[in-house]
Amino acid sequence: MRQQSLTEEGTAPRGGGSAGTAGVPGRRDHWYAARADARARAVQRARALGPGWTVVHDPRPRPHYHLARVVRGPDGRLGRRRVGRRFFYGEAGPPHVRLGEGGRGAVPPLPAPAVSPEADAAWEAAQEERERQGPAPGPDQQLRTALAERRWPQAIATAIALGTRDENALTDLVFSAAHPERRGRPIASHERSLAQEWRRIRDTLVRPALRRSYSPGSAGPPAVVPVARSTTWLRRAWAEHLGGKTVPMVDLRLFGLRPTPVHPYTVDAWRALERALTATGYRPRSVWNYNNRPITGGSAPSLHAYGIATDIDPPCNPYRLTPDQPAVRFSAGPTQEQRCAEVEARLADTAFTPEQVRAVEAITTVDGLQAIAWGGRWRSVKDAMHFQINVSPDELRRGLG
Ligand SMILES: [Zn+2]
Repeated sequence: MRQQSLTEEGTAPRGGGSAGTAGVPGRRDHWYAARADARARAVQRARALGPGWTVVHDPRPRPHYHLARVVRGPDGRLGRRRVGRRFFYGEAGPPHVRLGEGGRGAVPPLPAPAVSPEADAAWEAAQEERERQGPAPGPDQQLRTALAERRWPQAIATAIALGTRDENALTDLVFSAAHPERRGRPIASHERSLAQEWRRIRDTLVRPALRRSYSPGSAGPPAVVPVARSTTWLRRAWAEHLGGKTVPMVDLRLFGLRPTPVHPYTVDAWRALERALTATGYRPRSVWNYNNRPITGGSAPSLHAYGIATDIDPPCNPYRLTPDQPAVRFSAGPTQEQRCAEVEARLADTAFTPEQVRAVEAITTVDGLQAIAWGGRWRSVKDAMHFQINVSPDELRRGLG
């Protein structure tokens, strides 16, 4: 069946009518030097179009983002139908492709998107529905998806979690996904550059991942995969507590530092976080919770505006955009200072160790719900300083486990 590719205005693509299917960038496509810019533009466009629109990354024929419409199939499952223009990125596009405004290599900073807060919130809610549709994908589905989307670190981590620990097998897995045209054909002795690429995958991706998974004191991946509630869900659950309207904030001193206002229902949870981090050897320098402000890079209120999120040591646990959606990079440094130095050198994303984060994620309510979630687990951004309450006010008030 030939899939008709429509532009977002609903007309067939120009330029031979096959731009969408042949994969050749056409007149309606855009080209950006930086991947982040291409993605930001595509997201901006999808948001302006409203809920039901999303952005999909496609590595072929040349890596790009495209707009897609979220559709519900006859079986009730949500799917994505590719529609509309594409946002390519990379070194240089063909001459007939429109470049990001400003021309090749000179893309100006993005202006603030002209999107109403309502459209913004609706878009975000639609994204979350899409991401949380149906049962959570099983680990091998996660592995297939990560390989298809060329998210190698995530694919390797998933394969290790599934029990593959052989470095050659892991390297083959990534290499063959990177070269589907070879259909698994082994590298011949004259294929020098491919052999080099295979070794590079092993040395820079597979071996570090294996080392991380063996890090001292690590008991391997957690037995139960933590269930993080979406920020939209939490915002709804805590809606009446925005800005301390229903219950005033209380001052809480944590780690012997300057007291920070927090929502009174959350005091026990933050005390448990304090115990978890102290027991695993983390010494915070700054801790802050309540702040009546919108989220970074958006208009919806931050969970800090409800007193249910705490930031710890921003310089060593920074907020970073990670549009490629890699897994968080922990530092293997033996001391907090060394790990922080690796973060500043951009070799790692956080000064927390996996054990420290897991100790916080292991805090549960009496009902066994994960009480606190970590922003370092998020996909498109890493907010490593950020811990947020992961349950509703009623769930939290039933007490911790
Ligand atoms: Zn925060």
